[in-house]
Amino acid sequence: MKPRKIPLRKCVACQQMMPKKELIRVVKTPNDEMLIDLTGKKAGRGAYLCGKLSCFKLAKKTRALDRALKSPVSPEIYDALEQDFIKVEDEFQAAKAAMEDDGS
Ligand SMILES: [Zn+2]
Repeated sequence: MKPRKIPLRKCVACQQMMPKKELIRVVKTPNDEMLIDLTGKKAGRGAYLCGKLSCFKLAKKTRALDRALKSPVSPEIYDALEQDFIKVEDEFQAAKAAMEDDGS
């Protein structure tokens, strides 16, 4: 029995509610930079996406990040984030698998 509640967040692309650790956070920093934040701790307005490239592509197509971050995101920034997303996807999936092995 684990009474601890799992914090849920909504993926801005597919609108699914997921545990926070299943999602990748994109943050708009106070300097107006858009970054992928694997730690989930960077300051700024955040938007969550499933750790799947398909969801990033959907967000790009529907401009979901513009809405979630409440500011226009240029196609160049979407492209740069997509490259970063591809880079972190493996790392993210590996970290997730490691967490699940932990049994907690
Ligand atoms: Zn999603």
